[in-house]
Amino acid sequence: MDERPALDAEGVVVAALEQVLDAIVVADPDGRVMFFNGAAERTWGVDRAEVIGRPLGQALPELAAMLLGANGDAANSVAEVPILRPDGSRLVASVALSRVRIGDRTIQIAVARDVTDDARGRNELRLLSLAAGETDRGVMILGADRRVAYVNDAFTRMLGYRRGEMIGRTALEIFAGRSASEATIRRLERRMDAVRAFNEELFVRDASGRNLWVHAAINPIAEKNGEIGNIVVLLSDITESKHLQILQRDVLEAVANDQPVDEVMRLICERVEAVAPEVICSVLRVDGERRLRPLAAPSLPDYINKAVDGVPIGPAVGSCGTAAYRGEPVVVTDIETDPLWQDFKALYAQTGIKACWSSPIKLGSGKVAGTFAFYFREKRGPSAWHEQVVQACLDLCMLAIERHTAKEHIARLAYSDTLTGLPNRTRLRETIHERLAAAAPGEDVAFLFLDIDRFKDVNDTLGHSVGDRLLVEIARRLRAQLAPEDLVSRYGGDEFVIVLEGGRARAGMLAAALIEQLLAPVVIDGMLLPASASIGISMFPADGQDEDTLLKHADAAMYEAKSAGGATFRFYTQEMNGLAQERLMLGAALREAIARRQLRLHYQPQIDCLSGEVRGAEALARWTHPIFGEVSPARFIALAEESGLIEAIGQWAINEAAGQLAAWDRAGIELPAISVNLSAVHFRNPDLVQLVSRTLERHKLDPERLTIEITEGVIMDANPAALETARAIHELGVKLSLDDFGTGYSSLSYLARLPIDELKIDRGFMRDLEHDRNAQAVVTAVIRIGQSLSLSVVAEGVETRSQQQFLAALKCDVLQGFLISRGLSPAEFESWYRNYVSRTAPLRLPGAA
Ligand code: C2E
Ligand code: CA
Ligand code: CA
Repeated sequence: MDERPALDAEGVVVAALEQVLDAIVVADPDGRVMFFNGAAERTWGVDRAEVIGRPLGQALPELAAMLLGANGDAANSVAEVPILRPDGSRLVASVALSRVRIGDRTIQIAVARDVTDDARGRNELRLLSLAAGETDRGVMILGADRRVAYVNDAFTRMLGYRRGEMIGRTALEIFAGRSASEATIRRLERRMDAVRAFNEELFVRDASGRNLWVHAAINPIAEKNGEIGNIVVLLSDITESKHLQILQRDVLEAVANDQPVDEVMRLICERVEAVAPEVICSVLRVDGERRLRPLAAPSLPDYINKAVDGVPIGPAVGSCGTAAYRGEPVVVTDIETDPLWQDFKALYAQTGIKACWSSPIKLGSGKVAGTFAFYFREKRGPSAWHEQVVQACLDLCMLAIERHTAKEHIARLAYSDTLTGLPNRTRLRETIHERLAAAAPGEDVAFLFLDIDRFKDVNDTLGHSVGDRLLVEIARRLRAQLAPEDLVSRYGGDEFVIVLEGGRARAGMLAAALIEQLLAPVVIDGMLLPASASIGISMFPADGQDEDTLLKHADAAMYEAKSAGGATFRFYTQEMNGLAQERLMLGAALREAIARRQLRLHYQPQIDCLSGEVRGAEALARWTHPIFGEVSPARFIALAEESGLIEAIGQWAINEAAGQLAAWDRAGIELPAISVNLSAVHFRNPDLVQLVSRTLERHKLDPERLTIEITEGVIMDANPAALETARAIHELGVKLSLDDFGTGYSSLSYLARLPIDELKIDRGFMRDLEHDRNAQAVVTAVIRIGQSLSLSVVAEGVETRSQQQFLAALKCDVLQGFLISRGLSPAEFESWYRNYVSRTAPLRLPGAA
């Protein structure tokens, strides 16, 4: 048995209370602190000696406040009480207050526990949910189990799920959009594990199965132990801006890929209508005459586009015409009543369109190039989203148009005649090609071949510059007489080709009108120059199926008009065999001339542009017929090409020229090289390679001393043998020269297809070189191209010193032209040569070596 006195119960309780982790404060019936344990000392940050015996209100005011606030009848109450310690630190304590009656007196016992951390967490969540309830971003809070613990209203609005459906689901179930593949989900999980906030753009599916683009800011919240507790996810719907971004990207790609401008515009419209289904989109261009031209409006009926086409812009021309006119956006919320739509509302009556908002497309220069319009099926104006879309689209339209304009400008240089600004022969050929391909069955296309009567007389008697001005005026009159969709091109010299839509009647009437127009004399330098013209007309499809036949027949009809005295026109007819007969005769005569070796070669010298040294000569065919007289090679070569005689001429010319070069070698005429023209037809014959190599052997000539001049026809030839033959000839060591460069397609990519050694700038550019900046630009460009590809550049048709100086300044390599000499017979050439070499290089430029 224990000898020690029985334990004093009070003492035991006091000792036990001292040990408890919770703070314990006991107040006596007078409200004075009578007990204050160690935990209480730590909680309040005061020594018990400072509080014992003092009134609660002074010593521990927080508790006193709770006491006062506590309902008298409540025996017990629990509250969270903020405590300010003497050292200034704060905490939140959860205080359980008990009143204990002992007899007729009451003591109070407060048990307090530090809950600062819990309180902070709870408070944050409260604030968060307050904030989350207000924000329009979707908020989702996941528990540590990654299941949804909370979603706000915006979230349920955005995704269409009800809150009850969401709670307890795994977050990733919700992100089961199309792109949220397994991989995406795993990636998201990994990123969440990293306990760092991150952003994702996700493609999610809403309750109705619609896919949305959302921006998710994902904030995993770490617990004290480093594990992830809650994850707070903030979602914004970026479907619209994402669509816009994709639209921009796709359109830019189309622009970069050089898609035609109307296709780019159609793409823009279609995409806009896909992302803003309430909108009908249209893009119009404003042309040089300030008229509206539809570029794209895929959802507007065709009759609207047709009706709008050509409408001049103005101060009250619907939304678009007015926007283009004012240079600022025009919002018409009700086209029924708006005065701007007075003249147009009837047209749109059937479309269901009620409102239209149009913005001008401005280029970098500030110029209005077109309009971009939104049509609405209800009376309304644009939304903020619409404004955003339009801003983006205006930029895209501007880019597309500027790029297109830049390309057009380049194309104009390559495709237009430098003197008259009309489309050139290349452009003509392309257009004919397109028109014939696009012609509907039964649709007629007319070809007018127009040749100025006695133009040669003007040129010869009054000079080229007067001739040129006459041509410019004629071109202007032709253009003025025709509709914009009709094509007028300068075919060459004083020849123009016009392509018209419509039947014979229109062609005949127009031809008559053109002749009439041209008959009014042109005044140049105070002189009245008559300018009559003869026109021949051929009709597609009746007179031919392809451009060559059609042009040939129009040409034949033109000759017919000429032989009728000029200033008139003729349709091509089957019986129209005047020319055909002449051709037949001429063809027979040519055949005979070849057989009898009546063709001759003349040689035109080529000299070094800087040193003046003789570099070579071009062999040019000549034919003088006993009855027809001198027939120009332009004529008989074309004839030979048509009648199959060209092969014989080519073979003869190569042999003749090579033989001449060898003869000159023996005679001490040091001619480094000779150039021979071959037609494209030759290259279809693979035997040409053999023929060339045999000829060189026969005359014991180095292949390098022979240059063969080819035209783009060889490169363009659909027959692959042509390119092969050209390559094989180059393999022999023979040089290839690209003749008439700058007139045809002259595409650099074609140059790359053939091993060319030399470029000959077409002589047409020389004539314009002095006064025409385009011609200067072309010549400069050709020389630069040649230099950069290490090609020798020959300028032919050089007639004047100033042309020579211009070329020398650009470091052109070789000159050929009347300035140096015309084509000369072999005997003439020899004396020219001896004379030239004996002179002290008279053509050298000052300062040139
Ligand atoms: P091409 O090959 O471009 O020949 C240059 C033409 O320009 C020659 O006309 C020449 O006389 C002319 N020319 C030279 N310098 C000047 C100048 O300073 N001013 C002017 N206004 N003209 C100048 P040509 O001899 O009448 O030859 C015309 C075309 O006939 C040639 O143009 C060529 O395509 C073709 N041709 C000539 N000979 C032959 C040949 O043997 N075979 C083939 N296939 N074609 C030939
Ligand atoms: Ca030539
Ligand atoms: Ca040429």
